[in-house]
Amino acid sequence: MSAAPGRSQASSHRSPRGEGTPVNAHAVSRLRTARLAVSSKPYVARGSGLGRCPCCRLVASHCICALRPQVPTRAGVCLIMGDIEALKPSNTGWLIADVVADTWAFGWARTAVDPALLALLADPQWQPYVVFPGDYVEPGRVLTALPPAEDQEAGQGGKRPLFILLDGTWSEARKMFRKSPYLDRLPVLSLHPEQVSNYRLRRSTHEHHFCTSEVAALCFELAGEQRAADTLAAWLDVFTDHYLSIRQQLPLDWASEPHQRLQALAMTAR
Ligand SMILES: [Zn+2]
Repeated sequence: MSAAPGRSQASSHRSPRGEGTPVNAHAVSRLRTARLAVSSKPYVARGSGLGRCPCCRLVASHCICALRPQVPTRAGVCLIMGDIEALKPSNTGWLIADVVADTWAFGWARTAVDPALLALLADPQWQPYVVFPGDYVEPGRVLTALPPAEDQEAGQGGKRPLFILLDGTWSEARKMFRKSPYLDRLPVLSLHPEQVSNYRLRRSTHEHHFCTSEVAALCFELAGEQRAADTLAAWLDVFTDHYLSIRQQLPLDWASEPHQRLQALAMTAR
């Protein structure tokens, strides 16, 4: 397996000082550190004075690191992130990198591209798909399904799907899509309305926009990796429970439905 510099090296170990970047931090955590290093002024996130855990970004009383699931997957994820996306404590690309070891993260710039990103896209073990709404793309490039898993093993040289997620605001994502020539030759995976509404029904989600980790969950579902999809969804829900409990100063229920679902998924993995 290739090990491009952006690859997630998942671990919950902390640095000896108990602060800053965790040792063996995953791809999004390392991108955050790199982005902070080039900041001309310090980025002050909401609640940053609360003493957040560097691994899960939550305050110590709400740390979820001990619950963190990891799922072996065939598919991988390549996050291309808007300027300050990796700095936001609510960014959910981070949660994908928690769960899926084969996650890469790159910062996007209009005038430059990380050679490691180009190397990843050219790596013959992967079949990259840009995940983007098909309405904005010429129809010849658009897929709404992936080849069945067996076909993927036998055909296409047995390539593994690599989902390229443009992680930022909608206007950033559109800009990334239009102004990244290295994406132009790649097929576009468009999540189709039926799949999206099924997912919403199961999760009682009514928001118009999916967050990045929900998009990743849908992609893994399309790739036939249901356990990864369910685990990403449960991990997002547990994170959201804890995040909102801090923000709204609500009591935290460690036995809430998402906690139980996450635990059940971990049990079936054994
Ligand atoms: Zn933590």
